[in-house]
Order: sequence, then C-alpha cells, then structure tokens
Amino acid sequence: MTIEYIKDRLTIEAVLKHYGIEVDKNGMARCPFHDDKKPSFKVYRDTNTWCCFSGNCDAETGDVIEFIGLKEGFISRLSGAVVGCKEGKYRAILKAKELLGLGDLGNPNEGNQNSLVNPVSASPPLKRESNYSETFEKLRQNINRSNRAKKYLKERGLSLGLEVGYNSGTVFSKLKSCIVFPLKDEAGNIVSLYGRSVTGDPERRHFYLTDRKGLYPNYPSPETKKLILTESIIDAATLLTITEVAEKYTVLALFGTMGLTTEHRRAINQLTQLEEIIFWMDGDEAGEQSVERYAKQLRETYDTNQQSSNPAW
Ligand SMILES: [Zn+2]
Repeated sequence: MTIEYIKDRLTIEAVLKHYGIEVDKNGMARCPFHDDKKPSFKVYRDTNTWCCFSGNCDAETGDVIEFIGLKEGFISRLSGAVVGCKEGKYRAILKAKELLGLGDLGNPNEGNQNSLVNPVSASPPLKRESNYSETFEKLRQNINRSNRAKKYLKERGLSLGLEVGYNSGTVFSKLKSCIVFPLKDEAGNIVSLYGRSVTGDPERRHFYLTDRKGLYPNYPSPETKKLILTESIIDAATLLTITEVAEKYTVLALFGTMGLTTEHRRAINQLTQLEEIIFWMDGDEAGEQSVERYAKQLRETYDTNQQSSNPAW
C-alpha cells in the first residue's frame, strides 16, 4: 500500500463532495479554508490536485491527502510552512483510507467493516472505478449452467472450482458468451473483468471492458522471487493448475503480445526480492518479438526503480 495507491483512487472531487463542497462546471469551488465570497478554489481533475488563488488564504495548493489534513485540522499552513507535518500527514492518510473504505489493508475483504465512515452519513462510494464484484458473483453462479462453458474449461484442463464465471448475456450486456475472469487491484478488489469468448471465432476471443484495469490473478505478493509472465489470462489460469508451478512461482498474466501495461510495470517494480522473470509466451513470431521487447522494457524500468527505491510506507 502506497500513498500513490490512495491518490490514484480517491478523487479530489469525491473528497470535496464528502465535505459538502460543491464544484461548478469550471472546476471552481468556494474555498473551505478562508471566508470565500466568490469561488477562488480551483480543482484540477487531471492531476487530482487543487489550488486556492485568494491572497487572503494560507491553504495554497495541494493533493487529496493535504486537503484532508488541512480540512480535518491535522496539519496547518502558517506563512506557507506545513505545521504538524509528519504526524498530521499520517492521520490524513488514515482518513483518506477510511474514505476509500479501506480498513485493515491486510485483509481487503474486511475493509468496509473496518471503515469508520458512518454508514448513514457517508457519501456515495468514493472509488473511481465501478464495482464489478457483484456482477462477477452472479456470473460465477452461471458457470455450471452452460455446457459450452464447461466443455471449454474441461478442454483447457481448468476446474469449475476456479474463480471464474460465465456470461450468457442475461446478467451483463458486455462480454457476452464469454468465460469471465476477475481482474484485481492491489488490495485484492475486483476492479474489472476479462472475457474469453467460447463461440469459437478465432478472430474474436479476448474481450476487455473499456475501463480495463487490475491484474490477473492478482497483484504479485511482495515476497515474489520468481515471476512467470504469461501471454494470456487463460495461460495463467492453466499454469496455476500445476501444483508445482503454483508453489514455486508467482504467475501474472499479460494482456496479449502487446499487453504489458503501466500497471503491470508498476506492480513488478515493487517486487524488491525479485530474482527472475520467466516469459511464458506462444512460440510464434509475435510471441518471440514480445519477449524481446518486454524484457528490455522491464530491465530498464526495474533497474531504475530499484536504484531510487521508494518502498511502501
Ligand atoms: Zn482559500
């Protein structure tokens, strides 16, 4: 868990809404830190930051965590200096986690129960992404009802007990006629879905939602020493059925031969104990080229990152 993780997910607008501050269509609001007659508080959606332009205000500029810190009185700014910085910032981070519904991060499933947000007065969910957990649970119940899906899993050597669903199209309008796999964020929440079509059309097999994010089967554990990167999600699922592999290696799916995303790279960069990366790609030309490209990209980013290592706080 890093501060970046929180900043990526908690929008400044959601935080303002939580504190009852309205933002107009120009991104302006009345500043909560001084007596603001006309909106002089600007919200920057692209960088998730804010700035007060009033000359009568000490708040200046900041990010979501600084906003929370100032608003809750955990930190203050006198003559531009941040007062109560370390302790105050820590309390602001805790509050930010609370707003995200993340309690004890060791067990993300208990997050909402540990949340100190009063369920009655709490604002609507503050997370940026849609919650696909519910959709996935419904799809998961369908897996036994589709002969085509069962046949496909059997052919791939995958068991019905795998965390997998089937979408006939009745529950969810996207990823129709697909075996559906969950994609997860760092805290283990389902943040998107991947569909593998079982219609047999070789040209149209892989389907992602437009807001694709998250990793399969999950973020690699920080203790990972040997990492296998597979070309597809199905490959990862298949590999994980081999007990020896599952015990000795961490498996992470890429999204095809062009599918090493920023999120993959960020996750891999955090693995401080990593000794080896093994590519599990198809032996065709596209597969071989991608191994070369991926290896180069990972070597560059990983080396740079490990030199200026910035471990989770
Ligand atoms: Zn102000």
